[in-house]
Amino acid sequence: MIPEIETKSAIEIKIFQEAKLKIALEYLSENSPFYKRQFENYAIALSDIQTLEDLSKIPVTTKDDIQQFNDNFICVPKSKIIDYVTTSGTLGDPVTFALTDPDLERLAYNEAISFACAGVSSEDTLQLMTTIDRRFMAGLAYFLGVRKLGASIIRVGAGVPELQWDSIIKFKPTYLIVVPSFLLKLIEYAKQHNIDLNASGIKGAICIGEAFRNDDFSLNTLGKKITAHWNIELFSTYASTEMSTAFTECKAQQGGHLHPELIIAELLDDQNQPVKEGEIGELTITTLGIEAMPLLRFKTGDMMKAHKKPCTCGRTTLRLGPIAGRKKQMIKYKGTTLYPPAMENILNNFSTLECFVIEITHNAIGTDEILIKIAAQEPSELLLGQIKDHFRAKLRVTPKIEWCDKYLIDALRFPKLSRKPILVIDKRK
Ligand SMILES: [Zn+2]
Repeated sequence: MIPEIETKSAIEIKIFQEAKLKIALEYLSENSPFYKRQFENYAIALSDIQTLEDLSKIPVTTKDDIQQFNDNFICVPKSKIIDYVTTSGTLGDPVTFALTDPDLERLAYNEAISFACAGVSSEDTLQLMTTIDRRFMAGLAYFLGVRKLGASIIRVGAGVPELQWDSIIKFKPTYLIVVPSFLLKLIEYAKQHNIDLNASGIKGAICIGEAFRNDDFSLNTLGKKITAHWNIELFSTYASTEMSTAFTECKAQQGGHLHPELIIAELLDDQNQPVKEGEIGELTITTLGIEAMPLLRFKTGDMMKAHKKPCTCGRTTLRLGPIAGRKKQMIKYKGTTLYPPAMENILNNFSTLECFVIEITHNAIGTDEILIKIAAQEPSELLLGQIKDHFRAKLRVTPKIEWCDKYLIDALRFPKLSRKPILVIDKRK
């Protein structure tokens, strides 16, 4: 089930998207209070926007814009809204998104073709291990997508390994929809209860929320830990409430495919100009076919690379690589641009490390400094040297690394009122 447009030439896809963009712009200029005002304030004539390149004439939309003018983004009267969701608000206040009936239909279509991209068919049964309520869009999208695809779903929800295994044994699902680190909990439970993981009938996991691949698409420490115990395929997905669209890996697992009928993607630098091919940029999206809250050139804050070569799966569409990091966490260090996830990944490779914390500061001349505090039961110069070598090999630079007491690091990692361990302390600003 590959939509026809996804196997066309790059130029055909571009022309297709330009026609869709035109419709989206006309819709915004008629129905969106926010964009109507933007077009007026910046004297943008819609006739000036004919190609994807012309998008650069339109100012970008930021998370701050949506927070500040949330209601002005809604293009429909309240009576047309069916479902309300909110963003997770990991950085900043959550914002509200609304969906109309056609928006829910679009969401269902998006998720159905995303599942199909990962190889899921109407013969499959999927076990949902995320919440479907709590104003969370993704859980609902999964349900609607499975229904549209004609597959089956078991809505177990998040957590509770015992109930998850009970459902796996009872209903024999073939795929799991899951936060990848939770798979480690399922593995642990299975080992404790003599459940044969590889006889469970699970073929693969559609993963959400955490990276399990390196920049070159090989498995990172988390991905390797999972597959070392459980012979299943892992599919990465990248999605957000703002996009109402998922980028999901195909069988080739070389990045998440863009669906040209649903979204336009740009990768921009600090000046909001497109980055050179192969370089990391901030994903900036324009939604297509959305009725209630369409977005134009929305800067996601996620830094990543795009891959444009046709894929072995037959699709010719752009693929997005793993998220290198959040734009706010970008570090300029000794002439190199670094993101905390790459450093965390290197440190996670050393199983003898008990814990670590990464501190980022501004030094006297205004550039970034990195100090990594590590703890181990048996600290040694040899281990420290190995870690430094690994940094040099993978990231071309070695930050300052020092041994520290485990309790001191834990005090930094678990400040009062924090429910999750903090791995990065950013003291800049
Ligand atoms: Zn592919």
